[in-house]
Amino acid sequence: MVSRCKARGISVAGVTKGICGHPSVAQVMLEAGCKWVADSRLKNIQLMREAGVKGPFMLLRIPMACEIDCAVDLASATLVSTVEAIELLERSCVAKRKSHGVIVMIDVGDLREGILPCEVEGIGKSLKGCRWVTPLGVGTNVGCYGGVLPSPDNIGELVQVGHDLEGLLGYKLEFFSGGSTSSLRLLEKGELPEDVNQLRIGEAILLGRDVTHRQVIPYLRQDTMMFEAQVIEVRSKPSAPKGELGADAFGNAPKWVDRGVRKRAIIAAGRQDVRPEGLFPTGKGISVIGASSDHLLLDVEEATFSVRWGDALSFYMDYGCMLAAATSQYVEKVIVQ
Ligand SMILES: *Cc1c(COP(=O)(O)O)cnc(C)c1O
Repeated sequence: MVSRCKARGISVAGVTKGICGHPSVAQVMLEAGCKWVADSRLKNIQLMREAGVKGPFMLLRIPMACEIDCAVDLASATLVSTVEAIELLERSCVAKRKSHGVIVMIDVGDLREGILPCEVEGIGKSLKGCRWVTPLGVGTNVGCYGGVLPSPDNIGELVQVGHDLEGLLGYKLEFFSGGSTSSLRLLEKGELPEDVNQLRIGEAILLGRDVTHRQVIPYLRQDTMMFEAQVIEVRSKPSAPKGELGADAFGNAPKWVDRGVRKRAIIAAGRQDVRPEGLFPTGKGISVIGASSDHLLLDVEEATFSVRWGDALSFYMDYGCMLAAATSQYVEKVIVQ
């Protein structure tokens, strides 16, 4: 990832939030040449620092007022989108006699965080009044909330607003941060606007996938992470429940297709630990049929091997499932290599 980006003049901020800032993963990212370790949670950044990861660290979520001081202590740069945050950062920096970089987020249509392009003047003015807060660049986020895909047009708008900000500040910005994994497609097609010189990449590095384009990234590996749990029951049971039907444990009214008696297995994991929709069994002929908080039900009728009590079954994960598994304190994280 790093060399592909480097070949086009782009540096990579490795994004660790999908794996809750696991220090070993952050370390690998830095050793591979990522210029930043970026995470949305200060707790994750703190964990990595305590484990000896050098950084530099970038706080990816625009900060809460109450975490500004911590952000200045723990990170070298923060994404911002409000004058209020910039002012509080400056005040904190003054008190600590410490400089702190900011990347101004620009909303180019996905409607998550970011200033609207017409607001650049106000932000520019605020940044000009800062002595310790250092504007490093502009960034944008697409493909997250609104599902808007990066395009030469919307990333081009980021670049334009960045140049407007440069005009207001009177100097060049270091970073034009053109998005995340979803922007790699533009890079591959040679359509990423030329001034973009940084990407913040999580999913591609961690899983070799790009969920926004619903595809795997062919030149990366997908077998990077595996979820495992043991089988605690195997039984042939009817596929439709018996009795009056209310809502399930999560308030949803489940719908059933009666497929007759089928062999099923329960593994010791549930919605507290995984996102069942994002769990892909590695064993052929096995499918996920549902989950409660602590039980995950599998149809193993057509499994190509015998599934027995006590066996550990393994699964690949999508981003949402990895995030759930990484966040669950019940899931043990083991680095294999
Ligand atoms: C999560 C996040 C990223 C990384 O996204 P991926 O899709 O995992 O590459 C980049 N920037 C921001 C602001 C984020 O919140």
